[in-house]
Formats: sequence, C-alpha cells, structure tokens
Amino acid sequence: MTKTDNCTFCKTELLDWRTILADDLIRSVVSRPWFREGHCLVVPNRHIEEVSQLRDEESSAIMAELGRLSLKLDNGFGAGMMQKFQPTQGENGIKVNHLHFHIFPRLEEESGLFPVPEPNDFQDGFSFAPDKTIGDLANKLRVNKFEHP
Ligand SMILES: [Zn+2]
Repeated sequence: MTKTDNCTFCKTELLDWRTILADDLIRSVVSRPWFREGHCLVVPNRHIEEVSQLRDEESSAIMAELGRLSLKLDNGFGAGMMQKFQPTQGENGIKVNHLHFHIFPRLEEESGLFPVPEPNDFQDGFSFAPDKTIGDLANKLRVNKFEHP
C-alpha cells in the first residue's frame, strides 16, 4: 500500500505549511483541527493503517519524534500521546485511516490517563485555530539541525 489520492496525510503538499519535521520516513505536523492548543500528529510517510505494518525504522523514527515533541509540548504537566484507530473511521469523511499518533500537552486540572475532547466530536470538541497560530507553532517546534535525534 502506498500513497492514496483521497488521504489527507498522503497529500503532503497540503501539509507543508504546518509541518514540524519531514524526512524520508515520517512527518510531524501541528494538528488541524486540534482539540487543544499544541495538539500535534506524527505520521509515517507510507499509507499504512496499523501499527503492525510499521517497519522497524519507521517505528524508531516515530517514537523518537514523539519523545522529542513530548519534551517540547510539556507545559509543566507532561505530555500525552495516543494512537487512535477505528476500523471505519475513514468512512465518515473527516478522520483518516492513515496511521497517525496524537501528541498534546497535558493540562494542570486534568485527571485520568486518557483525556478526550469534551464534547468528543468534530462539531464542538475540536477547533480550527487561525492558520497563523498553527504555522507559528510548527515553526517553534521545528527541528533545528543540532537537536535532531
Ligand atoms: Zn495516506
């Protein structure tokens, strides 16, 4: 399985403006929409749907970037990450089946292991920050050549 025409994460030219890191294996981007400020995604370049399909070098690159972003996004209360998979999520036209990992700053008042947007839907639980806000964050989180893992 390679790139597909109707997949948001395969149309990399549309992601460039909010890209944090892009190499021959993976890409990290600021999420749009996001369920909280600082919500980012880490995505393998290949269009695959399950963790079991990852090659070793892709797994390694994804974990390294999640680790790097977890430090960058920590606002004093840690960073959370999740890989959310629903077999039919591509069918609703909003989410994508291309494997991706979410990473986001945790909030002070948060309890529990796994915070979810409230309400947990794209109608009200997520927001579209202005493009400038998204782009500025991508710039701020962008890897400089001295800190690449
Ligand atoms: Zn894809």
